[in-house]
Amino acid sequence: MNPAPRVAIIGAGIAGLSCATHLVQHGCTVNLFEKSRGPSGRMSTRRGEGWQCDHGAQYFTARSPEFRAEVARWEAAGAAASWPARLAVLGEHDARVPDAALQRFVGTPRMTAPARLLARQLSLATQTTISGLARDEAGWRLASVEHGPLGQRFDSVVLAVPAPQAVPLLGAAPALAAIAAGARMRACWALMLRYAEPLALPFDAAFVNSGPLRWVARDSSKPGRHAPDTWLLHACAAWSEDRLEQTPETVAAALLEAFAAFGARTPDSWSAHRWRYADTEPAIDRGHVLDAALGIGLCGDWLKGGKVEGAWLSGRALAAAMLAAP
Ligand code: FAD
Repeated sequence: MNPAPRVAIIGAGIAGLSCATHLVQHGCTVNLFEKSRGPSGRMSTRRGEGWQCDHGAQYFTARSPEFRAEVARWEAAGAAASWPARLAVLGEHDARVPDAALQRFVGTPRMTAPARLLARQLSLATQTTISGLARDEAGWRLASVEHGPLGQRFDSVVLAVPAPQAVPLLGAAPALAAIAAGARMRACWALMLRYAEPLALPFDAAFVNSGPLRWVARDSSKPGRHAPDTWLLHACAAWSEDRLEQTPETVAAALLEAFAAFGARTPDSWSAHRWRYADTEPAIDRGHVLDAALGIGLCGDWLKGGKVEGAWLSGRALAAAMLAAP
């Protein structure tokens, strides 16, 4: 009997976790490597004393039958729930109108929960930033910033990281490097606001169609949150890109001024976060990339529409293609 294929997956966001889960379910031995302290990537939550706030993905939708079934599993495990938010549109009303009938889900009690649920069944090394990949006759070898060369050998390697972070790791696969280099990912400034007394605004979340903001949400209105009134503001991509190197104070002042124009008062405290690679523009719908001969593949939201569902589908599709490859 052949030994189980050994696969290294770099990145424990929802794409890497989905890919790993599918490969493990089909008999592969999978090791996940993640540079942060925990899994979930951009499905993330900032936590402080007595408060929390989802500052990356805000909610997810489930349009495909496969992802709907997965979300049902997360709901059954208490890791996700529907968020029946009172939605508004601010600014120019016709520019972007939300679909009120669409079911929106969030991780519970925070956005990291689905990833943590998946990671429980997997072998995950955190605080391990992969800095090099090399292939010889024994397979793929990895090196990390924190631990230097890693001892294991792998038959295949998967890069489940944002495209710009994949490029420097793809020296051994120039065709894949060219694909990743062709994806343009855009930035997003996020501002988390805390209020001791709730803000009297008549909505839980709003799509903003003018000025620097594009989305505001009362994080504490999501199911399973027990924190005091916490709000999240996301800035537009173009506005964020132009201010990528500005200080959090400068960015916060501009975003708070824009929020005040919609009736919000000054928060008791705030924190900012700069996402360098929030979304992909223009969107790509390749699904995944696999060089079966070399034993290397790419997955992630950037290859499948740029959302949580796309990331999960991309990881799963790559796993299926790897299992089907000779
Ligand atoms: P990621 O989540 O980015 O995972 C990649 C992982 O790889 C990360 O954990 C990273 O730390 C790790 N990594 C990178 N380089 C290395 C390395 N060298 N070594 C080891 N690990 C590495 N989606 C929605 O569906 N709805 C939304 O409302 C929504 N809003 C968003 C708002 C913002 C501000 C942002 C940033 C994203 C939003 N998204 C939203 C997108 C959603 O978060 C992503 O589509 C999805 O989480 C991407 O998953 P992923 O696994 O492809 O990538």
